[in-house]
Amino acid sequence: MNVLVVGGAGYIGSHAVRALIDSGHQVSVFDNLSRGHREAVPAGLLIEGELTDGELLKRILTEKKIDAVMHFAAFALVNESVNDPSLYYQNNVVAALSLLDAMRASGTRKFVFSSTTATYGEPELIPIRETTPQSPINPYGFTKLVIERALADYASAYGFGYAALRYFNAAGAHPDGSIGEDHEPESHLIPIVLQVALGQREAITIFGEDYQTDDGTCVRDYVHVNDLADAHLKALNQLTPGQGICVNLGTGRGTSVREIVDACRQVTGHPIPEVAGARREGDPSELIADATLAKELLGWQPRYTEVQSIVETAWNWHQSHPHGYRKS
Ligand code: UDP
Repeated sequence: MNVLVVGGAGYIGSHAVRALIDSGHQVSVFDNLSRGHREAVPAGLLIEGELTDGELLKRILTEKKIDAVMHFAAFALVNESVNDPSLYYQNNVVAALSLLDAMRASGTRKFVFSSTTATYGEPELIPIRETTPQSPINPYGFTKLVIERALADYASAYGFGYAALRYFNAAGAHPDGSIGEDHEPESHLIPIVLQVALGQREAITIFGEDYQTDDGTCVRDYVHVNDLADAHLKALNQLTPGQGICVNLGTGRGTSVREIVDACRQVTGHPIPEVAGARREGDPSELIADATLAKELLGWQPRYTEVQSIVETAWNWHQSHPHGYRKS
């Protein structure tokens, strides 16, 4: 297929681009590089532009005969969304709707959407199934839910065929070490812990040790970024006009913050000092996927089932790129 990857210079998008190319698709990347990295995109594929530039998008969709669009170009930090909701509603909702309408105008109807566990809020039942009520507790989760709802309406009214993939905690890097996670500033657990191992930070601050979990720290479902990319490939083959697929992407296994720090100690051989910190606002205590439906509908199963092997790929990337994509 001819696939337009919007946000393909970002963390998950760049891994999806690689997976698409490796399986023989024709890929174009659209990104404004506000948070993505030029170096993450293979030469010749990047088109720089804004999602709100409907004329440009229509031209690209038509001239490149795009069959399907994958949309990764959203902001994804809960704290930031609480402090600056306008940024999130403008980028994650207004710009995404602009993309959908450019697709309508040019007759492209296949869409794979990066959704999130944040659409569930603080669910009462763990593991989380797709039937769990979606009740976000922050602007980030709301913006993603708005687009999921819009997609359901666009499917029935305009014949869109879509998949909304609800990621749990994306982690790791491509095993060949050429692309990986690089946010500025970094706020995610595994990269921060590995920055301690690299001597770039003094210690890891654990945000809350008094949660109702086995060791008192938050539990998350860490899923390898290449497994996420693989789910996108599988979704591409299942897109049916007028229908939507909404599935969780996780391993079904919970790992606490403390277990992540321990795994990083084992992988890096570094003592990684830790300090106790306050809870981070808006962090649910436990988020674990029931990913049975993704297996049923997409034939998807994560290959990385051990958190240690996920951390190994991240460590490989951080060691070879201690300053991310920036040249040291
Ligand atoms: N976390 C932490 N210290 C940090 C960064 C994160 O204890 O410096 C915790 C955070 O509270 C959460 C987990 O690690 O429970 C994963 O956070 P991350 O930001 O990586 O992903 P999120 O769950 O917010 O998508």
